[in-house]
Amino acid sequence: MGLQRLVKMTSALFLGVVVATACKQPAAAVTPEKEVRPHKAKEGKARAEAKATDEGKGQEKGDEKPQKYTVPFAWETSKAEPLALTRAFLKESFEDNKTYMEHGPKFFSAFADAELPRATVITCSDSRVQPQAWDETSENDDYTIRNFGNTLASDDGSIEYGIEQLHTPLLLIIGHTGCGAVKAASGDTSKLSKGMQAQLKGLQIPHAAAGKNENQAWAEGVIANVHNQVASALKKYGKRVQSGSLTVVGAVFDFRDDLGQGPGKFAIVDVNGNGEAERMEAFMAAINEPEGKAPKKTGKRELGSTEEAVHSLAQVQGIITREVASASNDSPGGHEHSHE
Ligand SMILES: [Zn+2]
Repeated sequence: MGLQRLVKMTSALFLGVVVATACKQPAAAVTPEKEVRPHKAKEGKARAEAKATDEGKGQEKGDEKPQKYTVPFAWETSKAEPLALTRAFLKESFEDNKTYMEHGPKFFSAFADAELPRATVITCSDSRVQPQAWDETSENDDYTIRNFGNTLASDDGSIEYGIEQLHTPLLLIIGHTGCGAVKAASGDTSKLSKGMQAQLKGLQIPHAAAGKNENQAWAEGVIANVHNQVASALKKYGKRVQSGSLTVVGAVFDFRDDLGQGPGKFAIVDVNGNGEAERMEAFMAAINEPEGKAPKKTGKRELGSTEEAVHSLAQVQGIITREVASASNDSPGGHEHSHE
């Protein structure tokens, strides 16, 4: 789009919308963005100051009746302003979407009419946690519920839909190191908003022993929360687990390397309520069994394959049982297993 046209369009919109609503904000010159924000792994440093000023403002009160506000345009003078950040984000969104559409009609038509995920995934809303960490091709495979602290309590209905209606054979609960919800829940929550307090009630983090390294205690809190969430899931879906139609797996995504297995590591810490190192080893061995290691793409569920998925899962569980039985007399192997 030419600059002149953009200015014309903006002027027209400006007259039509902004003047009509008597907005006091001045119009800034419409100039194309020169600086492109890094696309991947944004550090967010530029926003640190702006963010700091927002903190401690207390909770916002909801409006009594729905209101309509003006459509915002380019009035901002600095790229750190909320409107500038909003525009930049959306600009990138449309660029990314254009690229994503290049997958083509065949890609999208494959799942246009049916949702057939293999996993119901519950993870934290944290922006540093994204599905690429554990699934490069999550379309129609990860039915994902996200909330602050990856809790079951706040999203009953959504989780029920995944397990009871979509019949995913796997419930995967993923916590992450550096979780703000875990930190908040292990401290004083009395000054937080009611909504956040209610959300954090879903996390029960044990108090760290005195003198413990803060980061270590935090990481342990993250793992404890995953175990707690798995336990809640087993309370509700135990019958399905017992029948072999559901496996509940708890995992931690560790982008801080707090667990010492490398930054970005995705580690399983709980399987159906078991968290012992040797059992996790056995489970990993079962996952990586050559005959169970179907290529990812072909491993996806297809119409009518629910029974097959359950069957192959039962096979995996059989292997686990054998592995656990044979490993029960071995000494714990620690965390040095070679994954992949
Ligand atoms: Zn979190």
